[in-house]
Amino acid sequence: MNLHFNSDLSKKYENTSQKIRILSENWISSNMYCPVCGNKELTQLPNNSPVADFQCEKCGTIFELKSHLGIIGKKIPDGAYSTMMERITSNTNPDLFVLQYTEQMKVSDLCIIPRFFFTPEIIEMRKPLSPEARRSGWVSCNILYQNIPLQGKIPVIANGYPFRSEDVITNYNRIKQLQKKKLDSRGWILDILNCINAIASDEFSLKDLYEFRNVLQEKYKNNNNINAKIRQQLQFLRDKGFIEFLGDGYYRKV
Ligand SMILES: [Zn+2]
Repeated sequence: MNLHFNSDLSKKYENTSQKIRILSENWISSNMYCPVCGNKELTQLPNNSPVADFQCEKCGTIFELKSHLGIIGKKIPDGAYSTMMERITSNTNPDLFVLQYTEQMKVSDLCIIPRFFFTPEIIEMRKPLSPEARRSGWVSCNILYQNIPLQGKIPVIANGYPFRSEDVITNYNRIKQLQKKKLDSRGWILDILNCINAIASDEFSLKDLYEFRNVLQEKYKNNNNINAKIRQQLQFLRDKGFIEFLGDGYYRKV
């Protein structure tokens, strides 16, 4: 895997964001395999495809690419809010590649966020563009990157070191077991993962999870049995092998 962008390609472009788009898309086309099925190449889609940049011809998975210079903060700016929400609620949103590059035009980090980690609550509506703007009134969105659980950011390259493709594919397919079609169930599982991740030690108890009760109640106002819902999610995570039940209300992260 060559981590450098092919800078020759961008010489005729003045605009920086356009330049980066050309370089990063070319990099994915030349270097990236399908993390779902292992197909050696991804096909670039025409540039006007809304929220989709690549497709795997073998398994049909579609991908969007977001590139960022340096470390990513809390949010990633994305396209139209309405398009994003429509795709999330109809389960047709793409998987997201998040690529970080350096001033030297080299890829430092790359991760995949599978589509089933997207819920409406990780999408933030931005202010409509001002009346003076060229696209006045247009409403775009931010992806609240920080709110996505760790398990939903599958690493391909970390600190300039690529992971073995076999490991990335295994990891993706393991995480895929958490896939839930219904948005409400998806939200719950991601919330419980975030709670578990917030507990510092590897072992935790049901009581530790009940500590998040108020935060969860705030989010799920209509649910009047939060504790039961917590236990249900823990059982699901245990069945899928993400946590281990130690007995007597104790669990271990796997
Ligand atoms: Zn594939």
